[in-house]
Amino acid sequence: MTPAELRIVTLPHPVLREKARPVDAPPISEQVAAVARRMIDLMFQAEGIGLAAPQVGLPWRLFVAHVPEDPEEGRTAAASPAECTAAPEVYLNPVLSAPSADLEPFEEGCLSLPKIRGRVMRPSQITITATDPTGNRFTRRAGGLLARCWQHEMDHLDGVLIIDRMLQPDRLKNRNAIKALGG
Ligand code: ZN
Repeated sequence: MTPAELRIVTLPHPVLREKARPVDAPPISEQVAAVARRMIDLMFQAEGIGLAAPQVGLPWRLFVAHVPEDPEEGRTAAASPAECTAAPEVYLNPVLSAPSADLEPFEEGCLSLPKIRGRVMRPSQITITATDPTGNRFTRRAGGLLARCWQHEMDHLDGVLIIDRMLQPDRLKNRNAIKALGG
């Protein structure tokens, strides 16, 4: 399959329940770079803020994210730790660490679970270590929507979906849509 042929897959596609395997890096192969570029295009087309490789049918430890600045939502580039990205970012073989001790509820959706939305509790801040497309291993901390996005996408790499983590009342509210997807 060529990158141009990749599409977003939805439940019950089995790859969404697999544990993804590490990507060879560095150096990043041209194939992986092309897949990441295609994933960024698909994320923009679907108006999402993140997309993980299993969501395009590939069991790879790779995701892309773009959480733009939005002052109306209180999200500015000045926040510390970061709550947004200046441009779309690619994270290869990511690892999360040092979650803050608090848990915040926030309503999440997922491009692989159409019509399903529900509150998920997550730590408000977290640190990521990952490799970027130039082969550089980096570590960064985030809060707000960016921290949430990283945690949601990391879950995809372990076959975990928001329907597994959603607060019980929200899961009940979505039960018909979940059943319709075979979840
Ligand atoms: Zn998702």
